[in-house]
Amino acid sequence: MSPAADFLRPLVISGPSGVGKSTLLKRLFAEYPDKFGFSVSHTTRAPRAGEVDGKDYHFVSQDNFKHLIAEGAFIEYAQFSGNFYGTSFMAVREIEKSGRRCILDIEAQGVRQIKATNLNPVYLFISPPSLTVLRERLKGRGTESEASVAKRLATALKEIEYAKEGAHDLVIVNDDLDRAYEKFKRVALGEPIESDPLPPLDD
Ligand code: ADP
Ligand code: 5GP
Repeated sequence: MSPAADFLRPLVISGPSGVGKSTLLKRLFAEYPDKFGFSVSHTTRAPRAGEVDGKDYHFVSQDNFKHLIAEGAFIEYAQFSGNFYGTSFMAVREIEKSGRRCILDIEAQGVRQIKATNLNPVYLFISPPSLTVLRERLKGRGTESEASVAKRLATALKEIEYAKEGAHDLVIVNDDLDRAYEKFKRVALGEPIESDPLPPLDD
């Protein structure tokens, strides 16, 4: 398939919490302010310092989220680490209308649901170089309580299992940020890359 054809397909990025997805996305949107549209999800988790409602997420109450589920507002939704997260049809539709490439950042249960739709995205898995590094990054970010770090690391193992099943089209190991970003940028632009081998992630 030509690079142009891939650029027209949405891009789903996933990977364990703390691997560096937001970091890569921020860099991409700073370098190309007009090319991409980030699918802004709804979540019931509290905003982190610096997060902006309507930009990073639509931050909503549990009640509000449940109403949206009942209305059929979501293409997919999941519970992650005690909170709800979901992609609304409206979020994706608005980007599609703009002609920008739609980028979604979702976890494994969401990926499974998207696979049952006709969205036909490219699936990219961002992998840590090791579980030790992942642990350090998640703690180092300073946004999570000890309990939340433990929960997210437990869930990370499930994300990794899913990647080991070969669920994604492409893998990028976020070891050195500049190296990972150069590959990520090419994928986002619809250019071909050689997928990184998935590390053993058994440490
Ligand atoms: P995610 O969005 O996947 O949960 P973040 O983008 O918030 O992860 O990154 C988690 C932490 O790791 C942040 O503190 C970020 O600055 C750091 N980080 C991201 N990529 C790298 C990298 N390649 N090397 C070292 N630290 C990184
Ligand atoms: P965080 O709380 O760190 O922002 O996100 C936690 C996890 O939720 C990440 O793995 C992220 O990819 C995932 N996520 C964010 N938005 C959505 C969404 O709309 N749907 C699903 N299924 N997962 C999401």
